[in-house]
Amino acid sequence: MIIKSAEIEASTPTLQGAPKDALPEFAFIGRSNVGKSSLVNLLAQRRELALVSATPGKTRLLNFFRINNDWRIVDLPGYGFAKGAKGERADFNVAVADYLERGANVTCVFVLVDGSIPPQRLDLEFLRWLDGCDVPFVVVFTKADKVGRGRYKQVAEQFGRELAAAGVAMPEHFFVSATKREGREELLKFIEAQLG
Ligand code: GDP
Repeated sequence: MIIKSAEIEASTPTLQGAPKDALPEFAFIGRSNVGKSSLVNLLAQRRELALVSATPGKTRLLNFFRINNDWRIVDLPGYGFAKGAKGERADFNVAVADYLERGANVTCVFVLVDGSIPPQRLDLEFLRWLDGCDVPFVVVFTKADKVGRGRYKQVAEQFGRELAAAGVAMPEHFFVSATKREGREELLKFIEAQLG
């Protein structure tokens, strides 16, 4: 797929502010620092888009990018841990939950996982929650340049085992490196196939 156009369409703190017209949406989410801005930049090949989502104050917003007037990249706020009365729990924005539970156009969620570090409880917890939502999702291992091709299988299998222990079947997965510009074609091909 050739990216002919990419425009910011909405930056909103709530689902109410999302674009109203029905275009297939591909959402990107992960822990902060996972490499989400770099990946959005790599996919769209528009540095401005990634800059928008990295702007202070915009990192807590849902950013909608209209691609080729045909589909959207939805850059969701990253998740972290919150300390509450019952100890630490996965914490993500209410708007993210709204969007993933009730967004009308969600076609697939790309859950970004840092492939260069061991499986993180937070990612596993998020995936367990997401698995209970009615949306398709895939896992994208980022920073693949730090892993090396020879270890992709091992990384995916280890993550898959821990995910299975959390009660979730390993979904389709990809390896990307924004640094080496690798994995872009595979992701775009996947998106294209979903667009039919
Ligand atoms: P975000 O917070 O998820 O949007 O993550 P960023 O895209 O801002 O990246 C966070 C950090 O990871 C930055 O220091 C990036 O340079 C680094 N990073 C992002 N993608 C890659 C990658 O593919 N390989 C490596 N080695 N580092 C990366």
